[in-house]
Amino acid sequence: MANRVLRFIDVAQQMPEKRAAAERTRDFDEIYRQLVEEHAHEQAGRCSQCGVPFCQIHCPLGNNIPDWLLMTAEGRLEEAYEIASATNNMPEICGRICPQDRLCEGNCVIEKGFESVTIGAVEKYITDSAWENGWVKGPTPRSERGQSVGIIGAGPAGLAAAEELRRRGYSIHVYDRYDRIGGLLVYGIPNFKLEKQVVARRAKLLADAGIQFHLNFEVGRDATLAELSARHHAILIATGVYKARDIAVPGAGLGNVVQAMTYLAASNRMSLGDPVPDFESGALDAKGKDVVVVGGGDTAMDCVRTAVRQGAKSVKCLYRRDRRNMPGSMREVAYAEEEGVEFVWLTAPEAYLGDGDVRAVRAVRIRLGAPDATGRQAPEIVERSSHEVATDIVIKALGFDPEDIPGQFSEPNLGVTRWGTVRLDHRTMMTSVDGVFAAGDIVRGASLVVWAIRDGRDAAAQMHIYLQAQAGADADRLPAVAAAE
Ligand code: FAD
Ligand code: SF4
Ligand code: SF4
Repeated sequence: MANRVLRFIDVAQQMPEKRAAAERTRDFDEIYRQLVEEHAHEQAGRCSQCGVPFCQIHCPLGNNIPDWLLMTAEGRLEEAYEIASATNNMPEICGRICPQDRLCEGNCVIEKGFESVTIGAVEKYITDSAWENGWVKGPTPRSERGQSVGIIGAGPAGLAAAEELRRRGYSIHVYDRYDRIGGLLVYGIPNFKLEKQVVARRAKLLADAGIQFHLNFEVGRDATLAELSARHHAILIATGVYKARDIAVPGAGLGNVVQAMTYLAASNRMSLGDPVPDFESGALDAKGKDVVVVGGGDTAMDCVRTAVRQGAKSVKCLYRRDRRNMPGSMREVAYAEEEGVEFVWLTAPEAYLGDGDVRAVRAVRIRLGAPDATGRQAPEIVERSSHEVATDIVIKALGFDPEDIPGQFSEPNLGVTRWGTVRLDHRTMMTSVDGVFAAGDIVRGASLVVWAIRDGRDAAAQMHIYLQAQAGADADRLPAVAAAE
């Protein structure tokens, strides 16, 4: 049999077919087509099966990448799926939206001169094939334990924990203030990066396995944390971060100056067929408008690319640093440029101008000065560089902070850090309130889906240890049971 791996020398890197910019900007569908079977096997076979796989070390889930690449190269797809899903609750989602250039692929050792193995595309291919073939199974437990867990937040952290704990036999109740399961997977991340039926089929799998979802249920409004704790044996807080950061400049109260999440959630709801009065009235629709997006992270990239798809007349992205220093994924910047977005580097807003609605941004030019304590060059305003950028809508994408969780949940004993994130004992993942754990962005600050999944899995393992102790299991057996699972 011909060698099926180590083929990076004779087989070039090939991504799945990317739809042309002119075609893809006419709809909100994902931009990559599926890898075809033959190419998936070939691309997986480019892996050199490193003894110390740096790709795996730099995957937050420690995915056993070389093994599933080998199985794929050999056409043993079901085994590849078993390996991929052993460490990841949503491999098809991570394959689509992880910033692979900063994680697994960015650390693939064949990158130099040969370009990395297309790990994300193969992971997506394996798992989409598993769905098509009926290999994806819900977390049906062998027996019920009689203990119940309440999870606040149906984003990736809460869902990963729910799946892991359900598999271990706990009764799981997930509470979310939204009307759909998925958190930012549904209402933040646009369809062209992650089609919503991909999230919906995961959600259905969990509901079919007996996980009970209580939607439109806001902790703080519909129950306090103490009231919820009284219903369950343990609680997980996985509420994410939603308070938009802002810069105090004149004109912030003008019409059509909007926050990124308001804009993106409205667009996602439109794609889902929901009624969105602010979109229908035109306030959150970029069609035919000049659009300015302020910010340089992945949320800003999602806003500019959404505006293009809505049919904006022009889309500019204002960022106070340069291309090299922007936090967003370089892949996303390249896609945005292909789609016609203009990046205005080293520029920051000084005021929003208008009478009623915004008509322009008064901006200043920036130069990067000496590095600060973190090593990043501090932005400095260039004197007399004020100028106007005409616009009909300003979308602010400046990042997110946690809401006041102790206040919102009426639980003053819940400890938080100076950034407002929930404070944990990182060995047990328990908060300062007994039996209450936390995971995901609400602990890390705004981060990535793959880290939320990792945190949800880690929290589930720690909650299992706690719950077993609560159930009066033989304390000496606990570490062995945990290790065996
Ligand atoms: P979330 O996904 O935010 O879920 C939290 C859930 O808790 C929500 O459903 C919310 O409704 C619920 N909730 C909050 N408060 C309450 C309450 N009081 N009561 C009940 N429910 C409550 N990451 C990537 O890896 N790749 C990307 O391409 C990417 N793109 C992004 C684009 C945008 C626009 C944004 C904003 C983020 C993006 N991220 C991306 C980051 C990623 O989405 C988050 O890191 C991840 O979703 C965090 O998961 P989580 O479960 O901690 O929180
Ligand atoms: Fe790469 Fe993300 Fe998959 Fe890990 S989960 S292998 S980082 S795409
Ligand atoms: Fe294969 Fe690259 Fe990972 Fe090495 S670093 S095991 S070549 S994917």
